[in-house]
Amino acid sequence: MSKRAVTILGAGLVGSVLAVLLRKRGYEVTIYERRPDMRKETIGAGRSINLAMSNRGWKALELAGLREDIEAIAIPMPGRFLHQEDGSSAFQAYGKNGEAIYSVSRGELNKKLMDLAEQHGARILFNQRCSRVDVAANTIFIQQEDGSEQAITCDLLFGADGAFSALRTAMSFTDRTNFSQFYIEAGYKELNIPAGPNGAWQIEKNALHIWPRHNYMMIALPNTDGSFTCTLFFPFEGNPSFAALKTEAEVQAFFQAQFPDAIDLMPTLVHDFMHNPVSSLITTKIFPWRNADRSCLIGDAAHAIVPFYGQGMNAGFEDCSVLEALMEEHGEDWETILRELEQQRKPNADAVADLALNNFIEMRDKVADPVFLERKKIEKELGRRYAGRFNSVYEMVSFSHTPYAYALHCTKAQDVLLGRIMAGGDFFTNIEQPEYAAQVEQWLHEYEATV
Ligand code: FAD
Repeated sequence: MSKRAVTILGAGLVGSVLAVLLRKRGYEVTIYERRPDMRKETIGAGRSINLAMSNRGWKALELAGLREDIEAIAIPMPGRFLHQEDGSSAFQAYGKNGEAIYSVSRGELNKKLMDLAEQHGARILFNQRCSRVDVAANTIFIQQEDGSEQAITCDLLFGADGAFSALRTAMSFTDRTNFSQFYIEAGYKELNIPAGPNGAWQIEKNALHIWPRHNYMMIALPNTDGSFTCTLFFPFEGNPSFAALKTEAEVQAFFQAQFPDAIDLMPTLVHDFMHNPVSSLITTKIFPWRNADRSCLIGDAAHAIVPFYGQGMNAGFEDCSVLEALMEEHGEDWETILRELEQQRKPNADAVADLALNNFIEMRDKVADPVFLERKKIEKELGRRYAGRFNSVYEMVSFSHTPYAYALHCTKAQDVLLGRIMAGGDFFTNIEQPEYAAQVEQWLHEYEATV
């Protein structure tokens, strides 16, 4: 049986990895990318300058053969560095064994992935915006400079064209397709902490910095050039909000009051704030993801999520790893491959969407709370004492390949377990007493029975 010809919409992170994996199996691959070639032209910052990569992302890069290259430009972040309102700061390790998430430049990653896709023989066509898709005919329409459209009928089509996917839009209008989209009340703006003298990092390099301020927050991720990309997640409306901060003086005064330890490190703050765009944050859900064995959504096109767990790209890369395993198992049977892909991934995509929404509240509000900090310490100790029996939800999501749906399912049960433990007072003293240890053992059994 001859291999099918594959068309991919979007040479972003997921489309490029997908192209590499398909080429490795001998498929002919053509990608239509809306933007110019970012390796030749400077393109304005995309949706974030750097991204947190965790285990699921690394796995797909390993399959594609790019792990070592990216590791060389990735900065490990083994924990959060909290900048509290009262000026105090604290470091919270993410894992119990020093595990890290990694700050990676989106642009560098995307460029290397495109290089790799082309080296493997994929054809990437730039400045090719897909304006619409006829799902039944499996035909994409590419907008031409003169305003006309070029119709291309595809054999096997993947929509890797991101959160506002043309294929997803078309699928959402087909019969018996469920689709939802949900914007949160906050948007985001990127700001900058430049490198210090001699390219030095002006705050701790190996950490994800958070300034939690209840209903909003700023975060900062390190870049290899010594700078940090800061992102302010902030309400669109109300007070304070993007709408309320109108003048340069208001911006300066607000940052001085709320982020006093950061403002001195941000010499271009006011200019950046006044000129950088505010972007919105969307969650999309759709089902089905595919039309028979002819077309399929993947990555953000199938499941755009908010960025608060740092999992959007990781989840998209995991789609690719799962697809790779299914291609290995089912050969050329694309009906089965795509059916199983959507069956396996849909519940997990829905779960990571919910985990990400919940984590906004955790990051902006709870991380500053002493009760929460105590809980995190206890979670790690439970993980150490009861290795293999207890793993925090954060660790499952970021440092394992445990299905997201299972991690979400464990959330409530862990709330009950930790609630019981913390109601008893100082865990670290209590646990040394055999009676209390037996009680914890019992609670752990009950936890295990629930999850
Ligand atoms: P995209 O990266 O959006 O790529 C889609 C590609 O398709 C683009 O190249 C685009 O130009 C092209 N395209 C779009 N429409 C068309 C069209 N009509 N025709 C042709 N081409 C088209 N994820 C993480 O894992 N960790 C993080 O730390 C993290 N941080 C984030 C921070 C922010 C502020 C945001 C907004 C997102 C973050 N994400 C993070 C999520 C991550 O950016 C996405 O999940 C990831 O980029 C998805 O990759 P993708 O290839 O599916 O889509």
